[in-house]
Amino acid sequence: MNQSQTVILTSPNHAPSKAYETALAQFDRAASRLGLDDSLQQFLRYPKREYTFNFPVKMDNGDVRMFTGYRVHHNIVLGPSKGGIRYAPHVSLDEVRALAMWMTWKCALVGLPYGGAKGGVIVDPRDLSLTENERLTRRFTSEMVSIISPYGDIPAPDMGTNSQTMAWMMDTYSMTVGYSVPAVVTGKPLNIGGSEGREEATGRGVIIIMEEALRREGIFDNQNTRLIVQGFGNVGSHAALYAQQLGYKVVGISDISGGVYNPEGLDIQKLFEYTRQKRRPMPTLKDYANEHNDVDFVTNQELLELECDVLIPAALEDQLTEENAHKIKAKLIVEGANGPTTPEADEIFQERGITVVPDILANAGGVTVSYFEWVQDLQMFSWDVEEVFRQLRRILLKAYDNVAEFAEKHDVTMRTAAQMYAINRVAQATMTRGIYP
Ligand code: GLU
Repeated sequence: MNQSQTVILTSPNHAPSKAYETALAQFDRAASRLGLDDSLQQFLRYPKREYTFNFPVKMDNGDVRMFTGYRVHHNIVLGPSKGGIRYAPHVSLDEVRALAMWMTWKCALVGLPYGGAKGGVIVDPRDLSLTENERLTRRFTSEMVSIISPYGDIPAPDMGTNSQTMAWMMDTYSMTVGYSVPAVVTGKPLNIGGSEGREEATGRGVIIIMEEALRREGIFDNQNTRLIVQGFGNVGSHAALYAQQLGYKVVGISDISGGVYNPEGLDIQKLFEYTRQKRRPMPTLKDYANEHNDVDFVTNQELLELECDVLIPAALEDQLTEENAHKIKAKLIVEGANGPTTPEADEIFQERGITVVPDILANAGGVTVSYFEWVQDLQMFSWDVEEVFRQLRRILLKAYDNVAEFAEKHDVTMRTAAQMYAINRVAQATMTRGIYP
């Protein structure tokens, strides 16, 4: 660092987050329904290890800025820890803890040989140039180099990161160890060991699960079923695109700027192409609404409360709360995001007879295809897209069966059933392995 460089410090965010409160409340409810032994409950409740990294990044203007990032390994009983890396201004240690815990249950629920982890950096990626983003990613990866590995902890994309982020992570790790290690991260571009179908996997999985829920609720009718999707990132956009392809009417969708609504159905492909144009600042749905008259503009809050059959929250945690749960019109909620519903809202939905298909089932398609990617990388053999989607469907529907069976047997909601099933699987494995030494 030379004398003329300014060092700008951002402070770490250790503020408590509602997401962690939610994750713990869900865990406590499921664990006590299972009648888990107290010591086992304590073991599963706390993260195994937590890392905070404060690291400098050279900005394009020559300034050096300090950033804070986290990686939490919640549990590694079933295998290497697995989970995404998020770049967002609101990232906090508590949020990452919650997301890591949900990854443990998600992987256990769908039967993947993984534990759970999550990471994040406090940064708004829209404030970074491409070269700043690359330097930040490479530096963060280099900080994490001793805690990630193909058999230890395998990151993936999440909010604010994508396949390019994973390419830089894979390259930085590989340069450090001296040979190429594709299996250290998943969600990579296809030409460096990514998997067919990974990009669409989470959104597609959400719709596979939604269709199964509609079938079981006896309201399956793709021509007349109206969907509202909150979020137009990787999960929301691919869920909406796939739903439309299957004949569903997506009547509302939103991004950070707000939402667009048309009761006759939106042209998702057109919205997708509009918002993915390469200009700065990136075009938003609000810009679309300003420039076109085939949609009405609504706020993110209004969007959630619009008339529809299925609501797919696919953005952030803590969106369906005691404030708005009474006003939701959907008959079915399918959680594309992690932790979008608070425990208070869960109770209201249960009273109102609205089925909530929980995150760890509904959005497990992403990590499932991440697992396929990792297997392909380790075997140095790649599958075609038909094989990926066939196996994805098989695994998700099997998990759905397990949850439905547990829900009926224990007379609990799908959320509690999913958590019970997953927690039980990790608890059993913990007991089989025993306590070391
Ligand atoms: N970030 C995604 C999730 O929340 C995917 C994680 C992964 O593929 O490892 O499930």
